[in-house]
Amino acid sequence: MHTEIVGTCWYRGAGLDQSDYGRETCCMACGKPTRVCRNCRHHASGRPNDCLKPLAERVLDKTRANFCEHFESSLTPAAAGTSPAPEDLARAAQDLFK
Ligand SMILES: [Zn+2]
Repeated sequence: MHTEIVGTCWYRGAGLDQSDYGRETCCMACGKPTRVCRNCRHHASGRPNDCLKPLAERVLDKTRANFCEHFESSLTPAAAGTSPAPEDLARAAQDLFK
């Protein structure tokens, strides 16, 4: 089955196709939710609500699955290249010992 990569996971850069962006879908590579602000092309730190869409619903946790109607996958998540939050590092460390 051909799957077209339409986005990139902000966490470890895994390629994601359209079916990976369900409302409660997680990244196959790292298990992070995929429909999150960090994976959205409108995500922009420094903007109100860290979002280019002024009318988007306010989302407090940019790495939690959300129901934003403005969500659009991005091949270059705005957050790519920044270091993961401390709690993510802790969780990644835990994963190593599973
Ligand atoms: Zn991932």
